[in-house]
Amino acid sequence: MTDDALVPDSPRRSGSPGPSRSRVTEQGGGKRDISRPPLPEPLPAPVVDNHCHLDIEDGNSWLDPASALELASSVGVTRIVQIGCDLQGAAWAVKTAEEFDAIVAGVAIHPNEAPRVDAAGGLDAGLAEIERLVLSSPRVRAVGETGLDYFRTGADGVAAQRRSFAAHIELALRHDKTLVIHDRNAHVDVLAMLDEHGVPDRTVLHCFSGDADFARRCLDRGGYLSFAGTVTFKNAQDLRDALVIAPLDRILVETDAPFLAPMPFRGRPNASYLIPTTVRAMAEVRGEDLEVLCTAINANTENAFGGRW
Ligand SMILES: [Zn+2]
Ligand SMILES: [Zn+2]
Repeated sequence: MTDDALVPDSPRRSGSPGPSRSRVTEQGGGKRDISRPPLPEPLPAPVVDNHCHLDIEDGNSWLDPASALELASSVGVTRIVQIGCDLQGAAWAVKTAEEFDAIVAGVAIHPNEAPRVDAAGGLDAGLAEIERLVLSSPRVRAVGETGLDYFRTGADGVAAQRRSFAAHIELALRHDKTLVIHDRNAHVDVLAMLDEHGVPDRTVLHCFSGDADFARRCLDRGGYLSFAGTVTFKNAQDLRDALVIAPLDRILVETDAPFLAPMPFRGRPNASYLIPTTVRAMAEVRGEDLEVLCTAINANTENAFGGRW
């Protein structure tokens, strides 16, 4: 289906909490095409979008959680893990997961937030608040996204990132939650910190960005590899090599919406309903039957996030 009109920008539904941030304002929407890509063909079996930021507004108007879920499930994406990246976003994630059966939450202070929070003197209090949120609801399945980002944060932020990442790892271990890792240009240090602090039983490398060799090192530690729209980008052969060597039972799929829309929609607002485009590309890269891959991803996601919801 290629009719853009199938994916209207939706008016906010009454009762839903509003967005907590706007990508359009932060990343200069005026220079991007912010129209919503069309609905892809439905998948032959359901899958989960295991990493989404429903609270970050993008496009001409915000896609609220009810509308995002409705569009997604119409093409076979029936469940979502909502990731909150700061105290406001984390509280939003918990509230939304309590409101929608199809959504569970991950909560954390994002690695690019940690230095800012620390500079304001609030990192310890922020980490305590994240722990309170982890304990506040059984709908919180994950601690994350946390990790290291040497791309967007400079050397002066590394100490705060490391302190925050260590605290989040310990939180996941202490409360038996899934650890969702954000790793950008920091592969070696991410693994070193996991080895130092311990690898939680369920650990997800979100938006996996390494090559086959790094994939093996993550798999050796029991990690799940979550592939985003980046796997469809022309310059991402390393990622496709990693995808090919990953065992079928360690593969997940995500949007990281509203970021990282898959080709041919790169740069436009991403949403969970675009997962089929990424999964189809993944099946092709692996030479795998699409339905087999969907069924595996669905089961893997439940295993990675502590069971069915
Ligand atoms: Zn991330
Ligand atoms: Zn994310």
